[in-house]
Amino acid sequence: MDRSDRGGIVIVGTGLAGYGVAREYRKWEKSGPLTLITSGDGSFYSKPMLSAAWSAGKSPDQLVAKQAQAMASELGARILTGETVLAAGAAGKALTLSGGRTIPYDKLVLAVGARPRKLAIPDSSGAFVHSVNDLEGYRELRAGLPSGGRLLIIGAGLIGCEFAHDFAVAGHRVTLLSQSPLPLQGLLPPGLARALRSALEAIGVAFVDGDALQSLARHGADLQARLESGRELEVDSVLSAIGFDPEIGLARMLGLEVGRGIAVNAGLRTSQPDIYAVGDCAEMSGRWLPFVQPLSLAARALGQILAGKDVSLAFPHMPILVKTPRFPIAVLPPASGAQGNWSEDSQPGGAKCLFRDSDGRVLGFAVGGTHYPDRVELLKSISGGAAI
Ligand SMILES: Cc1cc2nc3c(=O)[nH]c(=O)nc-3n(C[C@H](O)[C@H](O)[C@H](O)COP(=O)(O)OP(=O)(O)OC[C@H]3O[C@@H](n4cnc5c(N)ncnc54)[C@H](O)[C@@H]3O)c2cc1C
Repeated sequence: MDRSDRGGIVIVGTGLAGYGVAREYRKWEKSGPLTLITSGDGSFYSKPMLSAAWSAGKSPDQLVAKQAQAMASELGARILTGETVLAAGAAGKALTLSGGRTIPYDKLVLAVGARPRKLAIPDSSGAFVHSVNDLEGYRELRAGLPSGGRLLIIGAGLIGCEFAHDFAVAGHRVTLLSQSPLPLQGLLPPGLARALRSALEAIGVAFVDGDALQSLARHGADLQARLESGRELEVDSVLSAIGFDPEIGLARMLGLEVGRGIAVNAGLRTSQPDIYAVGDCAEMSGRWLPFVQPLSLAARALGQILAGKDVSLAFPHMPILVKTPRFPIAVLPPASGAQGNWSEDSQPGGAKCLFRDSDGRVLGFAVGGTHYPDRVELLKSISGGAAI
């Protein structure tokens, strides 16, 4: 064990959650040992910008707000970069790093994020199927795509639609492949999903629906994607956007209770004392919310809890914003199990869908295009319980 190791607070992960907790903690506790560990380079950037950067004219390097060293001095913390936590035991309160060091902790925060699902296809092309969950993955995607190149995106969920929008606006030829007929299936009511699809088609995105990738092969400079229908597409690069799963490997090693994500209570505590989880790796009351607003609120609460305050986290209504600026969308899905029906009001350029119960109360909404600004009043009304 390193002599300089003094335990204290140890945070694994330097994404928005890990850095968020560290910043909030330092607001309350100015000194005391604080260590952050990351398998990455520890640079601080806004991950949501990855799917909006190209059309905004930003290079991957321009997304970095601060390097690890600058973060370390801002936080009065030690930041260990390029170190993967390989082993952890709750009993001995110590972590084993890939570089061979052992790091003790008094309180441990897991902020290890989520990992992209892998495509299960035979890939004889030798080419990399990209998936973007960090700046490095984004750099690789951009570096492998020629100017105006052909990009096949697999999956028309949030990330697939946002990248399709961003790369199409930046002048690439984008094909969006999805098994479902409409984008954001399960999140958007059909009226709004149709409007989003039309808006993406209007900027040149080609939809291929009801189909799936079967195999990839290289033909000269091209990648040939063979679909289950037998159709073939020639492209320059492939991006898999088929979803994420919470990173739970360390939690299992620590013997923590795990559902879809690492189970935490309203105090962000796991099933073991002195171990907390926050961000995309965690679930609270069975809810997995892999978005910035819930993790920011959780980080604020956990910073105080680590400083000894008694805080209990409750989430407000949090709409999901879809970064497709030619047709921006805000959606507040009704709570799971809520009874009611969607109504749709669509015009060219905009759509507004409301989910009402049998008394006419609005319990959820999805607005897009010209109706996007309506989200502010809708949210106020739902939060305040007023009738709309
Ligand atoms: C392209 C894209 C666009 C998005 N857009 C939006 C949006 O518009 N709005 C929104 O609300 N959300 C958006 N999200 C989701 C949002 O970005 C995430 O919810 C958030 O960034 C997750 O932060 P995190 O800190 O929990 O995880 P991460 O940022 O994934 O950080 C995990 C950290 O843990 C480290 N780590 C993991 N395992 C280990 C280990 N064993 N040892 C050491 N270190 C480890 C990693 O190196 C990393 O530092 C988007 C996500 C993506 C990918």
